[in-house]
Amino acid sequence: MRCPFCKHDETKVIDSRNSQDFSIRRRRECLECSRRFTTYERIEESPIKVIKKDGSRVPFDRNRIRAGIEKACYKRPVSNEQIDGVVSEVEAAIYEDGLRELPSRQIGELVFSALRDLDKVAFVRFASVYREFKDVNDFVDELQPILNDLDEK
Ligand SMILES: [Zn+2]
Repeated sequence: MRCPFCKHDETKVIDSRNSQDFSIRRRRECLECSRRFTTYERIEESPIKVIKKDGSRVPFDRNRIRAGIEKACYKRPVSNEQIDGVVSEVEAAIYEDGLRELPSRQIGELVFSALRDLDKVAFVRFASVYREFKDVNDFVDELQPILNDLDEK
């Protein structure tokens, strides 16, 4: 594992625990610069397939989910560790379901519920980009309470 600060190759694990069933959270310390960082390492499982809108299947890719969440959290007071937390939460929910395939929309729903608790602006951004509402009224119905809440701040 490479140190993200000085790029040294050797680090030691100072703490390790299962953050979810499928991933291990490790606290590491660089042997060169002694700085500490956290990694989330996945336990390999057979890949889950995501069913896209056109019916095609692609392997589940946590980095794509992470990129989407990062974009929604742009310039928001949300740390990398919090984003990792959301991704892990979503992944845990998927693996807990025990499904081998699931529609991309369902993944979106999992991200929504996780983001809703984390940051309301990020949630609204994510919703406006990724959610396929049946019609615009559904969208307004769902977001209105959240928007009201933002106005009050
Ligand atoms: Zn280092």
